[in-house]
Amino acid sequence: MNDSLLKETPHRRFNPLICEWVLVSPHRATRPWQGQVERIAPEKLPSYDPNCYLCPGNSRAGGMRNPAYTSTFVFDNDFAALLPNVPECASDKDGLLVSQTEPGICRVMCFSPRHDLTIPRLSVEELSQVVDVWTQQYRDLISIPWARYIQIFENRGALMGASNPHPHCQIWANARLPNLPAREQMAQREYQRKHGFCLLCHYLELETQDGNRVVCMNEAFAALVPFWALWPFEVLLLSRRHLGSIADLNDAEKLQLADILRRITIRYDNLFQAPFPYSMGFHQAPTNGDPHPEWHFHAHYFPPLLRSATIQKFMVGYEMLATPQRDITPESAAVRLKQLDEVHYTSPAD
Ligand SMILES: [Zn+2]
Ligand SMILES: [Zn+2]
Ligand SMILES: [Zn+2]
Repeated sequence: MNDSLLKETPHRRFNPLICEWVLVSPHRATRPWQGQVERIAPEKLPSYDPNCYLCPGNSRAGGMRNPAYTSTFVFDNDFAALLPNVPECASDKDGLLVSQTEPGICRVMCFSPRHDLTIPRLSVEELSQVVDVWTQQYRDLISIPWARYIQIFENRGALMGASNPHPHCQIWANARLPNLPAREQMAQREYQRKHGFCLLCHYLELETQDGNRVVCMNEAFAALVPFWALWPFEVLLLSRRHLGSIADLNDAEKLQLADILRRITIRYDNLFQAPFPYSMGFHQAPTNGDPHPEWHFHAHYFPPLLRSATIQKFMVGYEMLATPQRDITPESAAVRLKQLDEVHYTSPAD
């Protein structure tokens, strides 16, 4: 298919990481919008909130009190979805009623003592501390004998169901590979077996040659709107060197990760001049003792916003029952993200 067909004609695109299709309907992007487009007033958060259970020195719902922390702060979730000590037990009735117990640990990590400082407003130095703590947590959790997979993820904004605006992420460890990483592992392994090289290394090569979907880059990372993006402004963050997990980053690459996280999220906030909601998370090799040369360390940003700070994309109807669909092409989303400034819109002008 040539570029003009991709730009104007309904088509579908294949996501080789999870072996799924997405429908693209570029001809609809120009249809008039009947809904309301409003600019929301910037929310002014205090730097400390006496009622926030994540702020330093405050007490949490479980009765514990946070220390007067001064950089990052990690604790076991008081209402964890997974528990470390569960009896090993499984059942299978004719392959139809299948269940197994699942041990796990769920931690919460505050990025900063400041209630109001989100990732795009932290400095590269502060963010590189965050990256260091992610790495330490990863190492700490994989040393637990049953822990096989570590998921680091951030849910930002009330639209994504984040219950507290204090900037934080979660770190979950569990015994079995979760659904999405399991599918990506299968696809990466199969691609490697068939072609003899890494799926994402080769994909990155194609994207950097083409350049149309690359949003920003530094020496160690590239951020792009993937060819198969499903969410309007979805971003895939790829390490430029082939490595399996966050623990494989060298010191220079950790700094580069901090740099690119900041640049992506500043662009996101600048897009609609509002705090941009998303779910983001790293995907990395499991830690089951086997080598996983097929795994390429990366992160996904899945943001729900479509045309403004108040218009979101819903995955309903055909998308829920058949195939996800998008209107604006990944290429035009990339152009919009690429054109944005890397100075946060709330920064005072010089
Ligand atoms: Zn707080
Ligand atoms: Zn690779
Ligand atoms: Zn992934």
